[in-house]
Amino acid sequence: MPSVISTDVLIVGAGVAGLWLNARLRRQGFSTVLVESASLGGGQSVKSQGIIHGGAKYALHGALTGASEAIADMPRRWREALAGDGELDLSGVRLLSEAHYLWSPGTLAGNLTSFFASKAVRGRVDQVKGEQLPPALQDKRFKGKVYRLAELVIDVPSLIQRLADLAGDGLLAGQTIEPLLEAGVLVGLKVDGREIRAQRIVLSAGAGTADLLTALGLSHPAMQRRPLHMIIAKGPGLKPLYAHCLGGGTKPRITVTTHPAADGQWVWYMGGDIAESEGVNREPAEQIATAQKEISQLLPWIDLSTTQWATLRVDRAEPLQTGLTRPDNAFLAEEGRLLVGWPTKLALAPDFADRVIASLQRDGIQPQAIAPLPPLPKPPMGVPAWEQLLP
Ligand SMILES: Cc1cc2nc3c(=O)[nH]c(=O)nc-3n(C[C@H](O)[C@H](O)[C@H](O)COP(=O)(O)OP(=O)(O)OC[C@H]3O[C@@H](n4cnc5c(N)ncnc54)[C@H](O)[C@@H]3O)c2cc1C
Repeated sequence: MPSVISTDVLIVGAGVAGLWLNARLRRQGFSTVLVESASLGGGQSVKSQGIIHGGAKYALHGALTGASEAIADMPRRWREALAGDGELDLSGVRLLSEAHYLWSPGTLAGNLTSFFASKAVRGRVDQVKGEQLPPALQDKRFKGKVYRLAELVIDVPSLIQRLADLAGDGLLAGQTIEPLLEAGVLVGLKVDGREIRAQRIVLSAGAGTADLLTALGLSHPAMQRRPLHMIIAKGPGLKPLYAHCLGGGTKPRITVTTHPAADGQWVWYMGGDIAESEGVNREPAEQIATAQKEISQLLPWIDLSTTQWATLRVDRAEPLQTGLTRPDNAFLAEEGRLLVGWPTKLALAPDFADRVIASLQRDGIQPQAIAPLPPLPKPPMGVPAWEQLLP
């Protein structure tokens, strides 16, 4: 029988939310155990585009939304962490781009007027031209306008690796989770039969959280999935591009990020409107053909002749929203010792950790002197989206 473990905070789900929270808590002297049933970051996190939004995208309406305000501070917090002097020491995590760009291919003046009128954007956007343009847009045939947003793009696999290093001995590969009850009160979890007692239990299991809640006999908070059908392209003709291409609507027509593949080539990873509703209904071959048409129309100078293509289906997991409103903050619900949430964006992982830490502070939860952990089986690293499908 495996030994019983006591810890201050037991976290389930090692995506960016669980890993970031875990590192913050350890830095504050809490003992933690972070349980992962599959691979570190392998859910949504290493399939994300790695954009550390500052909210500019959400101001496309011109209307100031909650999203624009709540997320505005995230690029600064991430920059400080990446420089090694923020709330976490993320020095060594690879920064793919100092900026994300907004690219309007034609005459979208109306759209951009309201965009620039928005307070969320003022002072954080500069138009770029000529040699300042992203490499993929540097061609004499390029007619559009390009704006540089004060947002970063990070290499998520190196982030996950760093956060895993900061997790020390606290990572635990575990499949089966059952409630650990004392007089009907949740005091911990049984992970693969091993009792883990904790002052607080945090579920940050992304799309797995709904099933975990069911296993604990709870039906709230309700979760929603937003399916995406992403496109992946790899080839020598692809130069780095980190940009939302505007299509006149409130969502970017296509969002391109560029990632280094293990073989040294660049991979374009494409989302945005093309990967949402209609894209989800397309078969992979049809989705690839749609993306090829888009790129050929928007960037006809890019040589796609030797490009390999693939698609990836992945769901975003978020708290249930009413109507069409998009989640604009990290979300956390509380029930006794149990805290449950979703960051709703990679960029908002710091906000998720803040909310948990605020809850611990409010309840007077302090680090307790707890015996060192026994050696625990470790989960493997997640495989990035762009390595899963391409040879
Ligand atoms: C295609 C795509 C692109 C995106 N691009 C961006 C972007 O550019 N910028 C941005 O800010 N956000 C982006 N996002 C959103 C972002 O990826 C997510 O909000 C974020 O990664 C969620 O992190 P998480 O830790 O909550 O979930 P996840 O990364 O999904 O992690 C949850 C973890 O819990 C584990 N788990 C599940 N069930 C159990 C269980 N029963 N027991 C133990 N462990 C369990 C899973 O295996 C997984 O490792 C994107 C999302 C997608 C899908």
